Amino acid sequence: HDATLDLDARAYALDRAHVFHSWSAQGALDPVVIAGGSGTRVWDHAGREYLDFSSQLVNVNIGHQHPAVVQAIVEQAQQLTTISPPTAHLVRGEAARRIAAVAPDGMDKVFFTNGGADAVENAIRMARLHTGRDKVLSRYRSYHGNTGAAIVATGDWRRVPNEFARGHVHFFGPYLYRSEFWAETPEQECERALQHLRRMIEVEGPASIAAVLLESIPGTAGVLVPPPGYLAGVREVCDQHGIVLILDEVMAGFGRTGDWFAHTAHGVVPDLITFAKGVNSGYVPVGGVIISDAIAATFDERVFPGGLTYSGHPLAMASIVASIDAMTAEGIVENAATIGRDVLGPALQDLAERHPSVGEVRGVGVFWAIELVADPQTRAPLPAAAMGTVKAELVKRGLLPFIVDNRIHAVPPCVVTRDDVAEAVTIYDEVLSLVDPSL
Ligand code: PLP
Repeated sequence: HDATLDLDARAYALDRAHVFHSWSAQGALDPVVIAGGSGTRVWDHAGREYLDFSSQLVNVNIGHQHPAVVQAIVEQAQQLTTISPPTAHLVRGEAARRIAAVAPDGMDKVFFTNGGADAVENAIRMARLHTGRDKVLSRYRSYHGNTGAAIVATGDWRRVPNEFARGHVHFFGPYLYRSEFWAETPEQECERALQHLRRMIEVEGPASIAAVLLESIPGTAGVLVPPPGYLAGVREVCDQHGIVLILDEVMAGFGRTGDWFAHTAHGVVPDLITFAKGVNSGYVPVGGVIISDAIAATFDERVFPGGLTYSGHPLAMASIVASIDAMTAEGIVENAATIGRDVLGPALQDLAERHPSVGEVRGVGVFWAIELVADPQTRAPLPAAAMGTVKAELVKRGLLPFIVDNRIHAVPPCVVTRDDVAEAVTIYDEVLSLVDPSL
């Protein structure tokens, strides 16, 4: 009689009986049981191990159970587990200072939230109040979070400064493999996507637009690394019209691209940066907004009408301090850059060349997408049923994948080693060989 098997069965049964899951038809779920982890590995109660090439929801950048981060949380819990936002708390200040230190010059203040969605909510609020305008332009093929109604449902004064009649306008960004602009080169895609945005701004009315909100690299949408010059072009058109540029670095930030922020490599400085996930690898839920000095000054005299009970929660703050310090001391961001450039990128390119089911691979650092197609000529996406098989076969071989639509996102923790990559690529290779013959 194996008691650990009982625990796995119990975890599964309790989940199915009582846990209501995100983004799912509840009846169709078959969750993997996870009981523990270390670095790039997780395991169930019986000790069955998985190589984590998902980083869970692309957030465990420092790897599972980093001892310094765990210890910082334990020590903070013993000293003070919670304190309200209007107090001054040493560790909150230390966390904000460290985030400001890796952010661009001229962005010295941080507003803490509970996660990524409320970071985006608050960045939009800041941009609207700073500009006195209401529209927000963002991209099709983006994800910015799952809130929106809470403050509008609120029944007191806090609702009033957040009530804007008009809302959100969407535009297309660059994505050469499935170009909306009939482009054949990255240069054409960049130029035409920028022209499209300029036209959108003109016809929407520049004076009505508070912000352009973009993921520096759209993540869930498929790791759509922008062509050189695109983000700089967006910055230029924003400057021309006094529009705030919000870059959402929730998924791309804090090491994922081999840099502290994805936009750094594109030579732009935004007005607001949203972050969450990698800032503390999700050991305690947290997110926030990094604020330019000019926007921060707007709220020197004027009330900022936003806040959360757990803004700057001590356990989250302690985990941020320990995480940024460990990432710096251990060269974890540099490791993501090196692995991406020398190992993971070339290995995925090689898979693309050998497997007709791979339409394209793209990415940077430890942030990659393998786009699967049913037909390499038409680029028709591999259907959902076949993607279900891909997922099941990867899990069966001990790899935890991150799958969106017709893509496998290869997104391991930033501490991933060469050996981990070799193991994962062997598994991808085997599973892609199962898909190829059906083409
Ligand atoms: N922004 C981006 C770019 C994201 O990828 C996500 C989550 O995946 C969010 C915002 C929302 O973050 P959260 O799930 O912490 O609310």
